[in-house]
Amino acid sequence: KQQMARSLPKQKPIPGVKQVIVVASGKGGVGKSTTAVNLALGIMAVDHSKTVGLLDADVYGPSIPKLMNLKGNPELSDDNRMIPLINYGVPCMSMGFLVEDTSPIVWRGLMVMSAIERLLRQVQWGALDYLVVDMPPGTGDVQLSISQNIPVAGAVIVSTPQDVALLDARRGVEMFKKVNVPVLGLIQNMNVFQCPNCNHQTHIFGSDGVRQLAEKIGVKFLGDIPLHLTIREMSDKGQPIVISYPDSLEVSTSLYIVAFS
Ligand code: ADP
Repeated sequence: KQQMARSLPKQKPIPGVKQVIVVASGKGGVGKSTTAVNLALGIMAVDHSKTVGLLDADVYGPSIPKLMNLKGNPELSDDNRMIPLINYGVPCMSMGFLVEDTSPIVWRGLMVMSAIERLLRQVQWGALDYLVVDMPPGTGDVQLSISQNIPVAGAVIVSTPQDVALLDARRGVEMFKKVNVPVLGLIQNMNVFQCPNCNHQTHIFGSDGVRQLAEKIGVKFLGDIPLHLTIREMSDKGQPIVISYPDSLEVSTSLYIVAFS
């Protein structure tokens, strides 16, 4: 794979975009999309002068339309590029805008790559300080190609503290290192659940595994997101937690500060 990395064409920047931050995970369902959305909104909340876009590159299971409460087909610009849909001040692009909700996305590898290529290259973002990319889960060809085709300023990797998730998170770190993408750090999601009735804390997926992994492999630990009913509820309503509960900004803020300082 390392050889392939070297032989691929040179990276081309995305016009108008200053920095690309990818949010990745080894496994699906660990909170990658939730983190990507709240990171994008968190950056803007912390620094109003920043412009941030959100690209859903999870072409198999696009979640950004639902999380950002957006639907519809993007219009085309004069030069035939797709115009992002906007909510909460964030322009968004997703495969979910281009296919029916219920149609299965059963593509062969090449089709996946051309879809990704289109999402990466044929969107009229305008001027963005940051483009946050919600990556497909895992560490396969698609993830590798994205990391090689565009200049990525940094990768944030999300994991739960569960052993099976940690293993794959570590693979993620290695993949980004191989293609010389700086790993900004790890985010631990769902480390603790606090019972709203009795306040008892339960470590459903194990305790602090992501923090320990970060220490072990020498990458930054960026922060903790608790397993919380409101996070799930607000996500399902398309009102991300950072918008609906500004107190929760703490996580995004620390993430932002740690990642970008
Ligand atoms: P991924 O992008 O890794 O597949 P998602 O962000 O889509 O994961 O999250 C998977 C599911 O878990 C979603 O239903 C989401 O609302 C929920 N979820 C993610 N993080 C949390 C959390 N910290 N607390 C409660 N629910 C969460």
